[in-house]
Amino acid sequence: MGLLPHILRSVLLSAGILLLVQGISHAAGNSAGVKHPVLNHGVGPADAAACEQAVQRVMAMSEEEMLSYVPERHFTRFCHCPECFGGVDADLIFDWSIDRPDELKCRFCGFLWTPDGKYPETTELLATNSLGETRAYMYYYDEEHKTSHHFSRHIDLHKREWIHAQGRALGRAFLATGKPEYARRVALILDRMAETYRHMEVIKVGGTPNRYFKVADSQQPPYTWDAGRWGWHSPGGELPSGAIEMYDMIYNSPELDRLAGQRGYDVRERIEREFFLPTLEAVAATKSHVDNYVAYLGTAINMARVINEPKWVHWAFRWIGENVNAGCFYDGMWHESPAYHYMTTSGLRHCFSSAVGYTDPPGYVDEVDGRRYEDLKPEVELPFWAKVQDAPLAISYPSGDLAVVHDTWAKQKVGGARTQTVSTILPGFGHASLGRGTGAHQMQAQLHFSGAYGHSHRDALQMTLWAKGKEMLCDVGYTWSDIRYWTTSTISHNLVAVDCAEQKGSPADGDLLSFFPDVNGVSMVEADGRRAYGNIGGLDRYRRLLLMVPVSAADAYVVDVFVVNGGSVHDWMLHGDADEDTEVRCSIAGGEPLPTMPIPESVAAAASTQCYGELRDLRHTATSEPFDAEFTYPGDRDHGVRIYMLTSTEAEVYLGRSPSVRRTGTGTNADNRKIYDFWMPTLVVRRSGPAPLSSVYTAVYEPFERERFLDGVEPVAVTPASPDVCAMRVTHGEYTDTIVVTHDQPPYPERLTADGVSLQGRVGVVRRRGETVVGTWLFEGTDLRCGQNRLAVEAGSFTGEITAAPRIAEGAECDGFLTAAKLPPGEVLKGAWVIVTHGNGFTHGYPIERIDEVNGMTRIVLGIDHGLHVEGSTTREVYFPRRSIEGVNTFRAPLAASAMAVE
Ligand SMILES: [Zn+2]
Ligand SMILES: [Zn+2]
Repeated sequence: MGLLPHILRSVLLSAGILLLVQGISHAAGNSAGVKHPVLNHGVGPADAAACEQAVQRVMAMSEEEMLSYVPERHFTRFCHCPECFGGVDADLIFDWSIDRPDELKCRFCGFLWTPDGKYPETTELLATNSLGETRAYMYYYDEEHKTSHHFSRHIDLHKREWIHAQGRALGRAFLATGKPEYARRVALILDRMAETYRHMEVIKVGGTPNRYFKVADSQQPPYTWDAGRWGWHSPGGELPSGAIEMYDMIYNSPELDRLAGQRGYDVRERIEREFFLPTLEAVAATKSHVDNYVAYLGTAINMARVINEPKWVHWAFRWIGENVNAGCFYDGMWHESPAYHYMTTSGLRHCFSSAVGYTDPPGYVDEVDGRRYEDLKPEVELPFWAKVQDAPLAISYPSGDLAVVHDTWAKQKVGGARTQTVSTILPGFGHASLGRGTGAHQMQAQLHFSGAYGHSHRDALQMTLWAKGKEMLCDVGYTWSDIRYWTTSTISHNLVAVDCAEQKGSPADGDLLSFFPDVNGVSMVEADGRRAYGNIGGLDRYRRLLLMVPVSAADAYVVDVFVVNGGSVHDWMLHGDADEDTEVRCSIAGGEPLPTMPIPESVAAAASTQCYGELRDLRHTATSEPFDAEFTYPGDRDHGVRIYMLTSTEAEVYLGRSPSVRRTGTGTNADNRKIYDFWMPTLVVRRSGPAPLSSVYTAVYEPFERERFLDGVEPVAVTPASPDVCAMRVTHGEYTDTIVVTHDQPPYPERLTADGVSLQGRVGVVRRRGETVVGTWLFEGTDLRCGQNRLAVEAGSFTGEITAAPRIAEGAECDGFLTAAKLPPGEVLKGAWVIVTHGNGFTHGYPIERIDEVNGMTRIVLGIDHGLHVEGSTTREVYFPRRSIEGVNTFRAPLAASAMAVE
């Protein structure tokens, strides 16, 4: 009898706590309003045995031992090995094992770090968190290298990853078996995570190649990109992905209530209110969420679904839409690089899978966007996604590797190898690929003219050549090396460096001038890159034209005309293969070797001295005669590329080598100590003279395998001559091609070559067998003649003003432009590219589908959505970079004509 009141009181007390707990829990948020688990964890009773097996080790630990793997302090992934300094960027240098959890083993030299061994952590960093609490972070400081080594904090990274994996495995074991002991463990882990988050400092780990570990200036959000409280970078790393899944899996377990009873506080409330919601709010404090590390928006949706906070689903999904529509150009390409495109789209796929099928709670209408979601279908909401997904494949190499542009790793395969290649372009991003051939004879000459919008290189008018199975003239691409300044520099690219200076970066957008994907087999592209060299006063010309001319099913050569006007030193640069060793031969004998390139005193002040310093072991010759050089593969001198330089003015030729970096490895597998182990050939043709110096560089590339197929490339005189008119004769077998390239404007003057070809226009190609003309190609011209043969057209291009820009997306029946100019109706112009010049002088290209007459106006119907919203005098870009441009849009549609003899 005497015991009864006590038992009764105890029961009542428990019930009281339970009631209290549930009351607070409800007030904490809305999570009690949804059925958990909310997310699909893909686990069921059939998985019980495997799930239990997976958690044996952690279950064998005491609770306290297990919880010691939830780090109390901020972690770091960056820690150099003080023995060898191997790897890159101090990034993930050490291996770690749960069997020896307080040790680190260097992946590069095998050095074993232990807390009481060599390199003790005796230096102190004091850190004060947002609560005003101060504590010490201990680390080892290397006086000689001036490097800080946070070994224990790096161990924390590994412990943190381990406990996350265990927590998820325990959650799965609980879902599969319903056994409370598993839920108990997850509850403990989450409770400890919430506790550590409360006290965590905001730490900054910026700086390359030696990362630092500093207390952030502000402990309040928004955090800078290289800082974080829960993660190490923001906003991408700040949301507790992993923890949200654990929470969802055990949400229904009474173990959370039991733990609340033991702790004396509502554990669910604490996890949601003091851990999950603050991370969401910290992330949302960052202004823009158009980000290549976008997966966190999917995590935000998962969190919002689990804690039943629909406003965060709407917030995240709005930003997901912005990444698609405002992060990509009108061609669907993410604004940074092919590699970052795929990083972003893979994150977006995660976001889509989090959002798909989502329905708002009954009666919910979002306060910000005024919408409610019922069975959300991201791909229907964002139709542009269909174009975005694989946009970079347009310019991929035939091998299936992404085109190496900006920060893109070499040999990143997406989408598989191709059997056939044609000319393609990403006109919004700014990158054209002249292409042809099937099987082993696929070939590309790519011209890059994009802007600089993140992860970019200083590379306007860069050219690459992919042929005979190899990237023969390369872009080094992405590296995390100590000489990243070199791999992103103007000097490491195939272009003309002006005044030994770097291109200045943004705004660097190039202007497409013309694109002819296939005119009876010949293709051509031309772009202007002046904007990128805005730092060179008076530079009024910086243009490159590439022309790909086939000679057989297997072979083609590329003509490259680069004109520069401005500055006083012009260095035409060419770098060979970055994947393999190559041998170099040059028709003009090299002089005494120079250790590195001289930089003229007159331009020294703004010169890219450090990057020129990477050009080594140079042979030097002065010449005013054409010459040729070859880059071939060792052991196979009949495989490589021959370069003909049609110099006709005094030039200094330097032939040497520069670091190719790629072969030091990819990502964290790379090793900085190998930077100077791998080289690529580098050819520099320097012209100098008083500013403004004018140069026209005319080169021909002959990629060959087994047999060189060109018998000669020589300049041919033109009357009347002009410094920016060049002509050449290219001989192959019984054929001779005469090629004339001018920079003339209409009405085009007649240019007559010494071998009897007359051109009025920009580019003319005449192919003869003996004296017989067998083919003629005329680009942007009115007349091309040779003997009795004549190719004449009325106009080299159509021009006009755009008065309206209908879009299907805005309810029009087609995507196109309206103009008062007269163009031939029907499909005569199908396949031609129209170039629009906006009010700010930027140009963009669009493919013509057909020409219609509508109410006395001409409608240029396009094959793609131009993404322009024209209203009055304002043109707004619907897609990235969403500029608003004042002024009239004019257009030019350059035309080509060709005639082939029936042989
Ligand atoms: Zn080491
Ligand atoms: Zn590059």
